[in-house]
Amino acid sequence: MRLLVVEDDRQLGPLVVKALRQEGHAVDLATSAVDADHDVRTHPYDLVVLDLGLPDGDGVTLCHGWRRDDTAVAVLMLTARDATTDKVAGLDAGADDYLTKPFDMAELCARVRALLRRPTGARQVVLRAGEIEVDVAARLVRRSGVTIPLTAREFAVLHYLLTRAGEVVSRSELYDHVWDGDYDGLSNTVDVHVANLRRKLDRPGAASLIETVRGAGYRLGG
Ligand code: CA
Repeated sequence: MRLLVVEDDRQLGPLVVKALRQEGHAVDLATSAVDADHDVRTHPYDLVVLDLGLPDGDGVTLCHGWRRDDTAVAVLMLTARDATTDKVAGLDAGADDYLTKPFDMAELCARVRALLRRPTGARQVVLRAGEIEVDVAARLVRRSGVTIPLTAREFAVLHYLLTRAGEVVSRSELYDHVWDGDYDGLSNTVDVHVANLRRKLDRPGAASLIETVRGAGYRLGG
């Protein structure tokens, strides 16, 4: 999944980014309201971690603007300790959840996982496709009960295809949801990861779990 962290605190921002990258997500960082608004309107983020107090604006106004413009991205708001009015304003502005500072990084990651499961019916804890079972919380992939080791990026590609099961997903959509803005990849990056996934997931001689749709992209299931 692709995430944006909006946090102007020079220590906290990079720490949150690091923790979420360790969960296997593609994560960008914005340190101002202007940058955050631009990023959310430019990239198809799956979730935004949004600090309320920013040097050039506030998170409530940002979130309200995104909701007004029908931006469906999940929003986890970071609020100051005991500021109940902030929490209320944040939720009223369309935030999905909030976390009070200071917070535990493990709790932040757990809330992000919960939010990423929530928006569509497809975001269940365990996703299945054929013989493949993906435990999103534990980040484990099994085939007929046997664990298949995947890299974080391979897992992210598989997870995204599963959340869109039955639909054709273009290479650029996959790229946008799995790789962050810092990544300066090659044009065949997506294809290489799909090829590696097939090698690990498919049984020799059997049809591939991930179907290539000529000229359009990839489809898993359906
Ligand atoms: Ca702040």
